Amino acid sequence: MKKIEVGVLGATGMVGQSFVKFLEGHPWFELTFVGASSRSAGKKYADATSWRLDGSMPERVAGLTVSDCVPSSAAPKLVFSAMDADVATEIERAFAEAGHFVVSNSKNHRMESDVPLLVPEINPDHLKLLAVQKARGWKGAIATNPNCSTVALTMGLAPLIPFGIETIVATTMQAISGAGYPGVPSMDIMANVIPFIGGEEAKMEIETQKILGMLAGDHIEPLPARMSAHCNRVPVVDGHTITVSVGLREKVTREQVLYAFENFTAIPQQRNLPSAPKKPVLYLHEDNRPQPRRDAGRENGMCVTVGRLRTCPVLDFKFVCLGHNTVRGAAGAAVLNAELMYSEGLLD
Ligand code: NAP
Repeated sequence: MKKIEVGVLGATGMVGQSFVKFLEGHPWFELTFVGASSRSAGKKYADATSWRLDGSMPERVAGLTVSDCVPSSAAPKLVFSAMDADVATEIERAFAEAGHFVVSNSKNHRMESDVPLLVPEINPDHLKLLAVQKARGWKGAIATNPNCSTVALTMGLAPLIPFGIETIVATTMQAISGAGYPGVPSMDIMANVIPFIGGEEAKMEIETQKILGMLAGDHIEPLPARMSAHCNRVPVVDGHTITVSVGLREKVTREQVLYAFENFTAIPQQRNLPSAPKKPVLYLHEDNRPQPRRDAGRENGMCVTVGRLRTCPVLDFKFVCLGHNTVRGAAGAAVLNAELMYSEGLLD
């Protein structure tokens, strides 16, 4: 198959580098365009970028010249966005207006009524909102992936959707890599817990309700579940851990919930999308798992691990879930979204 050319806007930043790494060797997509600010434009990618990921910068990408983030015939039709949130709104819109498909990791457009906030295992039908965006006069469209902690939570909740999710209480222990580079000062985070991440709790609550919500024509009806998020930064490098208590409409046993976790599968697995984990939700039976250092990298960082399922004396059940924040919570999530769009024939 001839590969589809793709670009990354904000390719020099932390998330941009994750895209560059994740796309290397991709069977469908080939990275041919790297965009960043005017500070970087015109330089070789290797000269414009302080590479901060494990392993070396892919050689082929190192030699690409960084472009300004302006729509042009030089930019491929499919672009991933990892730009600074301060500039992403206008630039992503300009690309969509000019006919590009923007698959964005930034928060800017996530909650707009005609923009899908996708988790391909949960709400692939929300892609129908792309057609609604035509009313804006755009030739292209914008699709988004959720905040890094929300991906892990919603994937952990996905197997329970058929039981009717009514109440969610989620407490996060979030890795420092989620704050980008240089992130949280070492003097603040070493041997410490910071019980505040600006804007994160509200984001988790409304994004979860949209992701688990129902497509209703030209918008999403949010899941009418009551939800409370507590977000904490902890001295972990990669992997957001979340303890969850959930109230369900149906009266089900622990065995039924465990069966649902262990047998969960969805469209990305059925279509064998290249970045889809074989088991999107991997239940670990050990009493002391999942743990970020040991489990965040499973299935190339694309699955969510779950464990410690037990009955909850306040709500119905409680469990722990864990997701890799810069892979499943960022670049990997966006690439899987684009694979879903391709498999739906939307990128033709
Ligand atoms: P970052 O390291 O600061 O990178 C920002 C990128 O945006 C750089 O490539 C930068 O290019 C580019 N940029 C800045 N101003 C620009 C402009 N005027 N025009 C075009 N490009 C411009 O940030 P990050 O941590 O990678 O985060 C990127 C986005 O992903 C943010 O929206 C963030 O909220 C979101 N996000 C981050 C994480 C995470 O784990 N860090 C997780 C989920 C989502 P230069 O190098 O030329 O300045």
